[in-house]
Amino acid sequence: MFRLDGRRALVTGASRGIGLAAARQLRELGAEVTIAARQPDELQAAAERIGARWVRADVSRLADVQRAVEAAGDVDILVSNAGGPPPGMPSEVDEEAWATGFETTFMSTVRLVDGVLAGMRGRGWGRIVAITSLTVRRPALNLPVSNAMRAAVTNHLRTLALEVASDGVTCNTVAPGFTATERLKRLHSDAQEARRVQESIPAKRFGDPAEVAAAIAFLATDEAAYINGQEIVVDGAYTV
Ligand code: NAD
Repeated sequence: MFRLDGRRALVTGASRGIGLAAARQLRELGAEVTIAARQPDELQAAAERIGARWVRADVSRLADVQRAVEAAGDVDILVSNAGGPPPGMPSEVDEEAWATGFETTFMSTVRLVDGVLAGMRGRGWGRIVAITSLTVRRPALNLPVSNAMRAAVTNHLRTLALEVASDGVTCNTVAPGFTATERLKRLHSDAQEARRVQESIPAKRFGDPAEVAAAIAFLATDEAAYINGQEIVVDGAYTV
């Protein structure tokens, strides 16, 4: 049950954190996996740890996205991910921050999908999963670019699902809540502050990257074929 043998996956933003956890689980289920990120050293070390191939790519750049898709081969499973936009107040976001968020968070997914979709439709099987954020359900005051761009990703994939559902391709998003990656641990390095945030989560703890990865991996299986155009929030009931 829940195997991915013979499937080929491309996971971007996967040298660490949730992306790496997702790549690891896809490998464990038997998929052949290529991971992509910007820093070759960290990426190569991560790839060796999980038995994946790697390709250097900044997903905010079209040429890099095309290179990653080419390196991965016939992609059956796409997990679109990158680092989140920086914080700031909504009224203070400048043109450059909007443009960077647009390229890194939204156009990266659009372009990755463009690169793999024809092959998936041709083979009659495909799984597209974008990692978004709980901010789609509950906008965070200091993450205006994330709130907007992830909503755009979510609705793009929901729209795409309408077009490709009859071709055996599913398009879903997984929205993590507070997840204990190195980045989050750094952001909440003050123990008292971390405790306060955890108290605001009904589960009373941060999520584990593997718990988000499990939802992504499940969406990639044959068994998830009828789940399409959906958003799975993995947040310990925070957004309820
Ligand atoms: P992370 O910062 O630990 O990892 C991000 C990964 O993406 C790294 O491998 C990094 O090298 C790579 N990356 C960044 N920019 C890239 C680019 N332009 N091109 C290619 N690779 C790039 O992040 P994480 O905590 O694992 O989160 C993954 C995603 O989920 C992020 O978008 C984040 O904003 C979002 N998210 C995380 C949380 C959380 O609590 N961890 C909560 C909600 C949403």
